[in-house]
Amino acid sequence: MIGVYRRLSAVADFYCRLSISAVVLLHAAGAGAAAVEYDITVRIDPVARSIEGRSVITASARGPLTLALARRFEVTRVLADGTPLGAGSAEAGALRTWRLAGGRGASRRIEIDWRGTLAPLEASLDHRQVLLAGDPVSGAEGTFLPDSSGWYPRVSGALARYRVALELPQGSRGLVAGRLVEESESEGRYRARFEFPFPAEGIDLMAGPYRVESRTMRGAGGRPIALRTYFHPQVAELASAYLDSVAGYIELYESWIGEYPFTEFSVVSSPTPTGFGMPTLTYLGVEVLRLPFIRATSLGHEVLHNWWGNGVYPDYARGNWSEGLTTFMADYAYQEREGADAAREMRLAWLRDFAALPPAQDAPLAAFTSRTHGASQIVGYNKAAMVFLMLRDLIGREAFDRGIREFWREQRFRVASWADLRRALEVASGQNLRVFFEQWLKRTGAPSVRIAEAAHARSGAGFRVTVTLAQPEPAYRLRVPIAVRTEAGEEIRELDLERGRQRFTLEVRSRPLEVALDPKLRLFRRLAPDEAPPILREVMVDRTTVTVLLPQEGEARAAAKALAARLHDHTPKTVSSSDRLPAAPALVIGLHDDVDAWLERHGLPARPGAVRGKGSAQAWTASRPDGATIAAVSARDGASLAALVRPLPHYGRQSYVIFEGAKAIERGTWPARVQAVKLD
Ligand SMILES: [Zn+2]
Repeated sequence: MIGVYRRLSAVADFYCRLSISAVVLLHAAGAGAAAVEYDITVRIDPVARSIEGRSVITASARGPLTLALARRFEVTRVLADGTPLGAGSAEAGALRTWRLAGGRGASRRIEIDWRGTLAPLEASLDHRQVLLAGDPVSGAEGTFLPDSSGWYPRVSGALARYRVALELPQGSRGLVAGRLVEESESEGRYRARFEFPFPAEGIDLMAGPYRVESRTMRGAGGRPIALRTYFHPQVAELASAYLDSVAGYIELYESWIGEYPFTEFSVVSSPTPTGFGMPTLTYLGVEVLRLPFIRATSLGHEVLHNWWGNGVYPDYARGNWSEGLTTFMADYAYQEREGADAAREMRLAWLRDFAALPPAQDAPLAAFTSRTHGASQIVGYNKAAMVFLMLRDLIGREAFDRGIREFWREQRFRVASWADLRRALEVASGQNLRVFFEQWLKRTGAPSVRIAEAAHARSGAGFRVTVTLAQPEPAYRLRVPIAVRTEAGEEIRELDLERGRQRFTLEVRSRPLEVALDPKLRLFRRLAPDEAPPILREVMVDRTTVTVLLPQEGEARAAAKALAARLHDHTPKTVSSSDRLPAAPALVIGLHDDVDAWLERHGLPARPGAVRGKGSAQAWTASRPDGATIAAVSARDGASLAALVRPLPHYGRQSYVIFEGAKAIERGTWPARVQAVKLD
């Protein structure tokens, strides 16, 4: 297999992550078995876009080796143990490769010199485009040589330690992940040497007209940790706030998991609106750094990836657990710290997104390798995080944290799978977690649990409540929280549901009034229609959605068409305004009077009071009598409709949005109703 494998971690939830083929070889090369080392010297002129490099590679592997470098570079010398290797093969796409026969475990020494021109940096590219292009780019505003661009010759599929010495024109600063060993500036040149003494997945290089701020903190073991910001001048004033936050996150995770595994952490600004995480650093767009929630959440998520992802490597071929665990211990943990309501709000958002996910786009958690689009985030990040929450509820916080610490101690700088994680948590809890892990990792979808029957009777001095829970076969094994509301208050009981239909008896002291199913939303399950009020995203992502364009001509017609195209990530399926609606989600777009008349004609819920008469345009969802979701987009006039084309797609998580021109002035989700049965 030829190629360069690398994971780049995404930052804000609107940024997507690079998807790379399964790192099958990584597993074989993991656990310290790979003995590849790079010693690279590289000189870059960002403005001229030139690069000149020399690398000495030491590799001791039993089998054959494949050496790969991007074809855009000219190789001026390549020797293996002193013997020239020739021109290599240019068959592997953008890469030139050399195949070296097996070396019976003896150490090989490869020397290679290369040079060439980097692609021009286009600051207008968005995150996805930067990832798709995959080129090494350079310009006055910055240089970004991602590992996947093949900017240096590397041994395919092997983890490697490395040393990199880089040279840049005066005024530029640059770095790779790892320890800054020394730096100097003289004779118009900046020089820096870095060392990464652990098996790494690859090398990414960044440079730019940076102002560097630094600070040293003491890690838990007393070791110094160097914190730095490499910021463009326009965000330089944010440096000390970022350094404070990084220090806070490192302290948090050292006390929770174990010592920070590296000697530094840097926050580096990027001229493109990207968000990447690598070991020892995160690379964030200048505009991204200015967003207040980045420092409060995404930064912590990236710092935590130094433990999960870059400290312990996921076994990609068998499923990536690191995003779920990182989301649970960062994004979700911050909500928990804020309070029970904030945490519930996040669980509700996850469950609602899952309820809006068309079944065809669902996949088992074990199949998640890295984030490529919204659907895999819903499973790989959110469902996985909720699985960790259920696990902690099941075995208790103390055992969970002990298991996590043990997992870290055992697996540091190794490739670990879900099975390794399960083993650590089983040891810590003394419980067999086979069924738990199997159902949550291997099954698609989610359980749908409902209260089939509930009744009560007097029993001695108190009352006896019988609750029958039902779920479709094959049954999940679940610990279902049930709230019994009595005249004296509310009690939460946990019921171990194992079958498709099961009856439970509970004793309570005061007269029971109502039983409610999982009111705090601690179970990953398919919400009932009332529990998951419709959101706009449902009609946007579902490929079966039908679209009705009410305006027949003029500006309004053009705006409605443009809006329909923007709201779907596929070609919209349109039907005429007089057609009967199929049993599928529907999107209707038009001017106010036409929309009202159309809703009435089709017997659909009228424009809700929450939006009526407000702003210049409105969008809202409703449940149709047949259960399908309808979204309506309605405007005062053609210009107001046209103003929605850019902003509206960003409000997929809302049930309604009100716009004045292109500005959203009000938005929200319809209230969710807990599944409850009254007792009388
Ligand atoms: Zn992540």
